[in-house]
Amino acid sequence: MNTDERECIFCHIARGDHPADILYQDDQVVAFKDINPQAPWHILIIPREHRDSLNDAAPQDEALLGHMLRIASKVANHIGIAKEGYRVVINTGPRAGQSIFHLHLHLLGGRLLRWPPG
Ligand code: AMP
Ligand code: ZN
Repeated sequence: MNTDERECIFCHIARGDHPADILYQDDQVVAFKDINPQAPWHILIIPREHRDSLNDAAPQDEALLGHMLRIASKVANHIGIAKEGYRVVINTGPRAGQSIFHLHLHLLGGRLLRWPPG
């Protein structure tokens, strides 16, 4: 484990070393409620293995990225927002507002989501 991962809050959540309101987990990903929700439903889906951002996704991560998306739809269905609609977002880099540098997918729903986002 490198220094980044020892100090990374989402690595701590993935290992169960930091509390989180977890809705789903498996051997590859963990889905938990965002601590500062921007919609009635705001869930983060993270890989258990640390990647700084989408920029660090390698060809061998393609199955993992697909899994993250499929789990987003599975969680959306589970919490009852799949039919009315939801959004998945991956902020990448400082200009997109990425503040936690452990790859994560936002699942947002439960209200009207306008387009384009700010
Ligand atoms: P981003 O700005 O795309 O990097 O998103 C980071 C998200 O992580 C923000 O929406 C934060 O509210 C959320 N967040 C930060 N710390 C925690 C935490 N300990 N538990 C749950 N969500 C968190
Ligand atoms: Zn991490």
